[in-house]
Amino acid sequence: MSNTAFKVAVLGGGISGAVCASTLARNGISVTLFESARGPGGRMSQRREKAEDGKELHFDHGAPFFSVSNPEVVRLVQEWESRGLVAEWKEKFGFFDFQTLKFDSIEQEGLSKRFVGVPGMNSICKALCSESGIGRVEWLNDEKLWSLIGVDGQNLGQFKGLVASDKNIVSTRIAEVTGRVPPLDLKLLPELSEKLHNLPVRPCFAVMLAFAEPLSTIPVKGFSIKNSKLLSWAYCDSSKPGRSTTSRICREYNRSNGTQEAIRRYIE
Ligand SMILES: Cc1cc2nc3c(=O)[nH]c(=O)nc-3n(C[C@H](O)[C@H](O)[C@H](O)COP(=O)(O)OP(=O)(O)OC[C@H]3O[C@@H](n4cnc5c(N)ncnc54)[C@H](O)[C@@H]3O)c2cc1C
Repeated sequence: MSNTAFKVAVLGGGISGAVCASTLARNGISVTLFESARGPGGRMSQRREKAEDGKELHFDHGAPFFSVSNPEVVRLVQEWESRGLVAEWKEKFGFFDFQTLKFDSIEQEGLSKRFVGVPGMNSICKALCSESGIGRVEWLNDEKLWSLIGVDGQNLGQFKGLVASDKNIVSTRIAEVTGRVPPLDLKLLPELSEKLHNLPVRPCFAVMLAFAEPLSTIPVKGFSIKNSKLLSWAYCDSSKPGRSTTSRICREYNRSNGTQEAIRRYIE
């Protein structure tokens, strides 16, 4: 048996790659995880900024929270909760009408459970990826094994299996933005090509705002915005469990239950 028999490379340290790597490792498979960003987290990352007074502010600038209903994901989240990686965010949420400029519906605390990473949304990915090797991937070549070559030309090893958790790994958009060829050549996987091509991509902006004083006139810690073409929702990050700084965050985004979906895909 070759020493690559049980070696799997996971590309991407977002929640799906992190859960995948952790699940494979727990089942005795040797996993190497490659992440091209500074650290794990992906669209559940946390950003640090310095305020004028030197105070460090932390913003969850991707998913602000997630909720779970799938029983398998519920079990996983309970385990993360027992490890102190996530906590329930028990606050009031509501709706803001951009036409009347009023809060028109306040949801009572505890109606639906919202979970957040502690102390940041990226904590789950960081913990799950902590025992995996981190590298950078430029291109792959398939014969019987996957050979991974780093951006500086270094040999990152050969792998029996490869899990690509980010659509950008195959997207031609990466070439438009970076001028580099996508790391995974879809000519090698024609049947996947069409499926991936049809996946919608919806860009959005996240605006991170910090206030010296609490915004006491806002009756909720998070709200969806109705009747606005620009804004979708706003959340108060500093009201989340395990946060100590004063911060607010406001974004344009079409809400989804993407986090649960990303987790579920990779524990199956
Ligand atoms: C603003 C915003 C708000 C959201 N709100 C919610 C919400 O309220 N509830 C909810 O459930 N979900 C929400 N989501 C969606 C949720 O964040 C995502 O569905 C989930 O985090 C996706 O995880 P993923 O692992 O599939 O992908 P990602 O998190 O995108 O991870 C992919 C990883 O692959 C890495 N990568 C890319 N190319 C390479 C390469 N060549 N080599 C190595 N690594 C590579 C990337 O750096 C990244 O870390 C929101 C997302 C955003 C952006």
